[in-house]
Amino acid sequence: MNTLGMSGQWVNHSTRIIREITATESMAKTAESSARGFLLTGDPASLQMMKESVASANQHEREVRLLTADNPRQQRRLDNLEALLAERFKALEELVLMRGSLGAGEAAQVVRSVGAPLSAAIESLSWELQNEEYSLLEARSSALDEDTARARVGRAIAAAFSLLLLAAASVVIRFDGRRRRKLETQLQHEKDLFTTLMDTLPDRVYFKDPESRFLRINAAKGRRLGLSNVAEAIGKSDADFYRPEQAARARADEKEVFQTGRALIDKEELETSIGGVEEWVMSTKLPMVDSDGTIVGTFGISRDITASKRAEQELESANSKLTGWNDRLELRNREGVLLAEMGELLETCVDEEEADRILSRFATDLWPALSGALSMIDSSRSSVEIAAGWGDSTALASVFLPEDCWALRRGRPHGSALSYGQIRCAHIARGFTGAFVCIPVMAHGEVLGVMHLLRPDGQELDESELRLAKTNAERMGLAIANLRLRAALKAQSIRDPLTGLFNRRYMEETFERELYRADRDGSTIGTIMLDLDHFKQFNDAFGHDGGDAILKEFSQLLLARTRKEDVVCRYGGEEFLIVLPGASLDDTHYRAESLLAAIRNIAVVSRGRELGHVSASMGVALYPNHGSTMGLLIRAADEALYQAKAHGRDRVMLAATHPIHDSQLLNSGALGPV
Ligand code: GH3
Ligand code: MG
Ligand code: MG
Repeated sequence: MNTLGMSGQWVNHSTRIIREITATESMAKTAESSARGFLLTGDPASLQMMKESVASANQHEREVRLLTADNPRQQRRLDNLEALLAERFKALEELVLMRGSLGAGEAAQVVRSVGAPLSAAIESLSWELQNEEYSLLEARSSALDEDTARARVGRAIAAAFSLLLLAAASVVIRFDGRRRRKLETQLQHEKDLFTTLMDTLPDRVYFKDPESRFLRINAAKGRRLGLSNVAEAIGKSDADFYRPEQAARARADEKEVFQTGRALIDKEELETSIGGVEEWVMSTKLPMVDSDGTIVGTFGISRDITASKRAEQELESANSKLTGWNDRLELRNREGVLLAEMGELLETCVDEEEADRILSRFATDLWPALSGALSMIDSSRSSVEIAAGWGDSTALASVFLPEDCWALRRGRPHGSALSYGQIRCAHIARGFTGAFVCIPVMAHGEVLGVMHLLRPDGQELDESELRLAKTNAERMGLAIANLRLRAALKAQSIRDPLTGLFNRRYMEETFERELYRADRDGSTIGTIMLDLDHFKQFNDAFGHDGGDAILKEFSQLLLARTRKEDVVCRYGGEEFLIVLPGASLDDTHYRAESLLAAIRNIAVVSRGRELGHVSASMGVALYPNHGSTMGLLIRAADEALYQAKAHGRDRVMLAATHPIHDSQLLNSGALGPV
């Protein structure tokens, strides 16, 4: 049992002691008055009463001894009391025996004169004994001062109320007028204290019966219940003033206190009155104990803590807001760092494939909870294909039509959290029920592709995630546009615009590299120099455009019939050079012959006109056999070509096996600086 619950036991204990003391005193007085009666009347019943009263007084005195066994002060007082009583009773016995020799009036006189001082001493001792118990009771109540202030007030009320119970209990014991007056004065004093407490305490105090009906409330509680008179509360319960769930909770708490005798300390709860007024209160509820130690109800004290609770809540919400801001700031910061890193890497990318890989890598860090992909529109703008993916992007079609994506159709973001979000893009799997967003990837007003983000758990993307996705889509758009621009510029610098073949400058750079490689590996390089036969006639017959058409067609054929590592170059007007790294003379010769056959089959149609057939003459030379430098080798191939022309065109000729020396060539001025 807790300390508060103990107070009931102490009250009970003290009450018993006081009752036994007053009984001892009372029995002693009865013995005296019975003895007086016998001395006056000689009635044997009075004598009998005297004897019984003496026995009873002694018995009550022994009981007090037992009950105060732990209190040496009380025991000393009892020693005195016992001696006084023994003296008194002995005197009474002697008087009774003297009755025969004294007259009635004389005997009564003796009784009074002998008995008076002794009785006064007994009475005073009895008071001392009782006072000690009263002060002990108070001391024990105040010794409980270790808890909160409110619990202390609760205990003070408990003590005051207990004293009232005690005083009331004492009234039932018979006293003489003086004793009763004393007690009544004390009782009145306690009542006054109690009333003052009840009327002025700002906390609400209420006493309830076992059914949680109000027995008594103080003025503050009356005000809270909206009553003009506190008596109106009597017999009512919380259900008459508070919302049903509120009343049920209070009832359950009080039942618990009532049944277990355990106090409920400082419980904080939100009270809602029937009228809907909300108030935070802190309540302490205790068992109410009668003079026998039986729990007869509960009483409670509660305080309005709405203001401090509000302040506490505001502080909490301000705190969590601050934490939220801080978290978001940190996240923004992290995103910023990642975006900057990604931007730097995108700038140094050499092609789109690399850019896509970078996006996949960073997207996983930027959106750990999201899956997604970047899809690009092909050059014919007829299909869209995933170029990069992250997370689980299986819900996205890898190839789809531009019109399957609402973001591409409308040229602006489309997603489940945006307007018309219930309309899903056709490229998202039907089974996918999560959140999604598609953001067009654009640059310089042109749509290049679309970025998709998916969240399988269905939680919508928040504003900051959307903003980040848009920023990222923009960056990707610009990066890709840049890469494409760079690629176009590079192509322009190394390719011939009409045929798309490498230009002469590029061929020369490559050739030098291939020579080093061949020297290192001990391998050979085949070269084929080609010139279209009688091309001038084509131009004359079909115009320049017709000639161009043939040049293009011819170039496509060359590309289709050479290996990837071969360099096909437009060397001059209708002259071409093919460099075949690693090829032998036979390989090169064979390749030239097969090209010759294929060229004969070209049937060029331009503007609905058949342009007839073309043929070419070719010269073949091999490094290092026909020349030790690029210049010499090309010269040898050119010589062979000249031979082919000379021998009637439409044929392949191999270079002369006698290499021409560099010095001869340089001296002849046939080649520019090599
Ligand atoms: P041969 O069999 O001796 O090589 O006769 P040919 O007519 O092909 O030779 P020639 O060198 O006399 O003429 C080359 C012609 O190729 C001259 C020029 O008009 C034409 N030509 C060169 N570059 C282009 C071009 O870019 N487009 C067109 N349509 N014609 C070109
Ligand atoms: Mg020609
Ligand atoms: Mg020519």
